[in-house]
Amino acid sequence: MTTEEIEFNELCKENGIEVLESDLGELIVQLAGEKPYHLVTPAMHKNRAEIGQLFHKYLGAPVTEDAAELTMIARSHLRNAYITSDIGVTGANFIIADEGAVVMTENEGNGRLTMSCPVTHVVIVGIEKVLPRLSDLALFLPLLATSGTGQQLTGYNSIIRGPRQKGENDGPENMYVILLDNGRSELYQKDRFRQALGCIRCGSCLNACPVYRTIGGHTYHTTYQGPIGSVLTPQFLGMDQWHHLPYASSLCAACSSVCPVNINLHELLLENRWEIYQTKQSGSAWKWGLNLWAWTMTSRFRLNFISGLTRLIYRFFLPFLSKGKRKRIPVLPVKTFAETWKIYEKQK
Ligand code: SF4
Repeated sequence: MTTEEIEFNELCKENGIEVLESDLGELIVQLAGEKPYHLVTPAMHKNRAEIGQLFHKYLGAPVTEDAAELTMIARSHLRNAYITSDIGVTGANFIIADEGAVVMTENEGNGRLTMSCPVTHVVIVGIEKVLPRLSDLALFLPLLATSGTGQQLTGYNSIIRGPRQKGENDGPENMYVILLDNGRSELYQKDRFRQALGCIRCGSCLNACPVYRTIGGHTYHTTYQGPIGSVLTPQFLGMDQWHHLPYASSLCAACSSVCPVNINLHELLLENRWEIYQTKQSGSAWKWGLNLWAWTMTSRFRLNFISGLTRLIYRFFLPFLSKGKRKRIPVLPVKTFAETWKIYEKQK
């Protein structure tokens, strides 16, 4: 995700360098010309038939919907690239201070091949990923696996302490570790937001979020989607462009309740909203809209009047609003909740 964050692939392409994603999900979205849909499962929005068509179109494979066959197609496509590539670039799930080690945890073995086959291995990792001791992995590896994919431990866990040494057969000749700040130090200075740097990118808050589940990952247009994305993106990239994201939440706190590192995500979303309000990033239309909403909601008469009017307009415009492939506007019930409640009370 760190390379997504700095648009590394795009930069390489601009400089004539070919980049091949080795994670199966990432490879699928790369072929489709899309961004990852989810922090942990980047191609979860594609079904087997769509993936089969992509492999047929871009890799020249025979059309298939069989999961095992699709995996074998990706495998044979990638296998040669591991051996012939000049540089393998990976991220890291953790970096260990006392051992000076990089830790990668994955299920496909692609990370291990990427870092060991090419001559040079480059790690791009956020500075917040530092753990003090190697023994901390006893907690963090199962924590990440359980929250991310529901496993007790992921399939491949690698601890790398440097390039190949004298007398060793495997590993790259050179290894570089790039520590990425990209707004993290600034976030660390903010007392309330510091906790967001504890995120281990497990994706649990996305899975629990009713907004993410409804609108999907691509709607955010961000590297990090869902609740954690709506906390981090405005902080990293600026409130002026991303002030709408903290409002993509019902504040139900489902995200906070599932976060394995106890980040109070819903409170941080409110903090972001407060910052937006204070810096007037949301603009006057939003302010007037909220004032109008407050004025309406504080009077039964006004609420009934506006809701009646809205229903009339809604009925008139519904045929036009429901057009289009992606949106289906639900039909409103004939009676409002207040009207139904009145009838219920009378019948009691
Ligand atoms: S904020 Fe918590 S739940 Fe969300 S991805 Fe990060 S660690 Fe997981």
